[in-house]
Amino acid sequence: MTTSTPAFPAATILGYPRIGADRELKFALEDFWKDSSTDLPGVARSLRKSRTGTIKALGLEGTGAVPEDFSYYDQVLDILLTAGAVPERFAKEGEVLKDNVETPESPAVLEAQFTIARGEGDRAALEMTKWFDSNYHYLVPEIGPETRIEWTGSPRIGAIEALGEEARPVLVGPVTFLALSKPAESAPESYDPLERLDDLLDVYATYLEKLATAGAKWVQLDEPALVTDRHRTDQDRARLVELAEKAYAKLATDSAPRLAVALTYGHAFDAVDALARTNVGAVIIDTVRGKEPGEAELARWKDALAGRTLGVGVVSGRNIWRNPLDDSLAQLRRIKEGLGDDVQVSVTTSTSLFHVPIDATRETSLDPELVSWLAFADQKIQEVVTLATGLREGDAAIGGQLEEYRAAAESRRKNPGVRVDAVRQRTGSVSEADRTRGEYEARREAQAEALGLPVLPTTTIGSFPQTKEIRRTRAKFRRGELAEQDYIDAMRQEIKDTIERQEKIGLDVLVHGEPERNDMVQYFAEHFDGFAATEHGWVQSYGSRCTRPSILWGDVTRPAPVTVEWSAYAQSLTDHPVKGMLTGPVTIMAWSFVRDDVAPKEVADQLGLALREEISDLEEAGIPIIQVDEPAIRELLPLREEDREQYLSWAVGAFRLATSGAADKTSIHTHLCYSDFATIVDAVDRLGADVTSIEASRSRFKVLPALASHGYQRGLGPGVWDIHSARVPSEEEIEGLLDIAVRELDPRQVWVNPDCGLKTRAWEETTPSAEHLVSAAKKVREKLS
Ligand code: GLN
Ligand code: ZN
Repeated sequence: MTTSTPAFPAATILGYPRIGADRELKFALEDFWKDSSTDLPGVARSLRKSRTGTIKALGLEGTGAVPEDFSYYDQVLDILLTAGAVPERFAKEGEVLKDNVETPESPAVLEAQFTIARGEGDRAALEMTKWFDSNYHYLVPEIGPETRIEWTGSPRIGAIEALGEEARPVLVGPVTFLALSKPAESAPESYDPLERLDDLLDVYATYLEKLATAGAKWVQLDEPALVTDRHRTDQDRARLVELAEKAYAKLATDSAPRLAVALTYGHAFDAVDALARTNVGAVIIDTVRGKEPGEAELARWKDALAGRTLGVGVVSGRNIWRNPLDDSLAQLRRIKEGLGDDVQVSVTTSTSLFHVPIDATRETSLDPELVSWLAFADQKIQEVVTLATGLREGDAAIGGQLEEYRAAAESRRKNPGVRVDAVRQRTGSVSEADRTRGEYEARREAQAEALGLPVLPTTTIGSFPQTKEIRRTRAKFRRGELAEQDYIDAMRQEIKDTIERQEKIGLDVLVHGEPERNDMVQYFAEHFDGFAATEHGWVQSYGSRCTRPSILWGDVTRPAPVTVEWSAYAQSLTDHPVKGMLTGPVTIMAWSFVRDDVAPKEVADQLGLALREEISDLEEAGIPIIQVDEPAIRELLPLREEDREQYLSWAVGAFRLATSGAADKTSIHTHLCYSDFATIVDAVDRLGADVTSIEASRSRFKVLPALASHGYQRGLGPGVWDIHSARVPSEEEIEGLLDIAVRELDPRQVWVNPDCGLKTRAWEETTPSAEHLVSAAKKVREKLS
């Protein structure tokens, strides 16, 4: 087949949003979960067809040019299902899959799939974790020596039959699948799922054969694990590259479709070398997050990839800004020249486009000038086509598009909100002293005196249950159906109720409960200048869940205090200290679409300064404790060791800029929510917060020894209550965790709090859980004295 297969398309994208322009998939999934007789496969069919139609109409054509990456729920789960690799607790669902290999979209199979994805009763769902350094969550497979790994069918086969040879199936590659898996519960202590690579390769070989029969000429295998040093701390990247070479030597055969292996989310030039030693037909690199290949690489690949294709991911799959066409063309021409005529250069995106919304031209309520700077998925397809044409035929062939791009770039450069001199002057004059607080010992004493808290102080992470009523009130206000004063009164009533409940429960440090916030990032984006909100800009977060990130397009300022009145009102109701609640600079950036025309450090410092003003106003209003949440600081951590220090220096620097204006007696808290916290112990230490709360209950405080041995001195609140489930933890259970905490740390360091905010919980479980937390803390206090 190799010789007769047409070349890899000169222009393509690595994937397209799956959820639908109007979130059709979300609604179809949620209908199906309510009533499994609804026609979910019919919706899937029409979504596949319409996205293929759109992609082709925008100019991607030819064999293998249109990615077929539709997924009912998650791309990692798809491979798990195809390999039948279900965890033991879902054995029943595994049987259903096995009995329906030929009907992978039957209601029974779909139901089994969603049970595995979402859990049922006591059977916990698969764990969810962030996909590389993005805000998308994939489901983590659990693989052990006994896990069944056998061909179990795939809806993609039928889809390819229906779509024809222009469709290019996209699959998570075998090395990445196993690298992202965790050991099954029954597996021996340090078991490595990669031990099952050979078994999994048999499944992929079958898969490829069936895709070939269905008509696929090219298949794309995504292997982003090869760009990362740290997805799991025990992984050695060189070993992954070695395994990939072995895997593709086996999979890229003459009877299989041609394989295109995508190395996305970073750089891995050694992996290109390794893959070139196999018979794969194309290797795709990401030159946006990764690096552009230098002369040495191009000279090597000129021979190594002769007769094959290097795909250059030059259009970002992650941001929403128009591509700088002139720079991209220069890059592509340099690469093409370096590779000579024997290697085809294809133009593509740096990752799948599922990280971005579908169509910027639908954003009719945004300023048209801002819209002219944007490229969502559909605009990015046009950019890929334009660049491929320009590369083949020269600038003259795409003159109109180049002019249009240059005009948009010019308007962006000149826009008064993009560059506000007063803001630049302030960031430009930030000194190290602005990022430095007084000595910790002095702070500790001043805070102890100001707050008068017992040992093992109890608190929460910020939000309390967001009842239907609260959400309805906010929505009414947003739609203009509720007068501002009525809205304020309603929220105050909520705050009052929440304060009373906390007093009754007996917590030491109270919060206002965040009823006014829809989302911890969007809330600040709405109140700072420099941001815009889209109307249709949804992106998939996981399964049927979508988020609508704000666009951070200009210099950031804080026109007025944001949280002060709410916090001050809460403090006026109680003698207990109330903790003010802010979202940190890095998290605001991670969960927004951030401008690409200035360095991240500049953006982070602007946010840092805006938050610094807010903190100063909170202090003035008498708020003694201020928490600055940074749950995303880990998410943006670069995938390669060598890039980490640079990131940490601006990320930590911005947090310190935000918090270092605080007086010694003001206690600065931060909250980070993920459990594999050992990887960034050092960064946490550098943030310098007086108290850090972390997620820890599910891992039974395994991170504490790492912290203690690091010499971490300040306050720590390892979460004692897993808020991700509705289960009420018993007093004994919490006491047991606290016993560990006071053994591993100096008891004076320990705070008592849940794992995360409570906004998704109901009062029903929140009240008894919080009561147990308080009584457990009291018990352990007694034991200590
Ligand atoms: N303060 C936020 C809350 O309680 C923190 C949420 C988070 O960590 N994701 O909701
Ligand atoms: Zn959290």
